Amino acid sequence: MARRKWDPRQFVLNTLKRKSYMLPAISAALDKARRGFGLYECVECRQVVARKNLEKDHEPPVIPITGWDDYNGVIERWLGERSEIRVMCKPCHKAKSKRENAARRQSRKRAK
Ligand SMILES: [Zn+2]
Repeated sequence: MARRKWDPRQFVLNTLKRKSYMLPAISAALDKARRGFGLYECVECRQVVARKNLEKDHEPPVIPITGWDDYNGVIERWLGERSEIRVMCKPCHKAKSKRENAARRQSRKRAK
């Protein structure tokens, strides 16, 4: 298996993600979205889905549209102390990430 290039930013993001279940803001978001045993409502399409089809979304996004700012900003947004954490079904979260990535590419182009 080819080893990926060492990327400290990706390392921090992956490590934070793995511990996300420990965040009080995430438990709160899950409680808010719960519609039955193991069932949650997506904030975007309002569909009720099982836990395994659910993803967490940060608003504003952890990585700003204008690109990575610094570790402090990324970690603060991830902790959700000043941002909102919501739950979305996988297709909605994928679509949102796609929109954000497109906006990031646009923003990079403008910066050049
Ligand atoms: Zn949805």
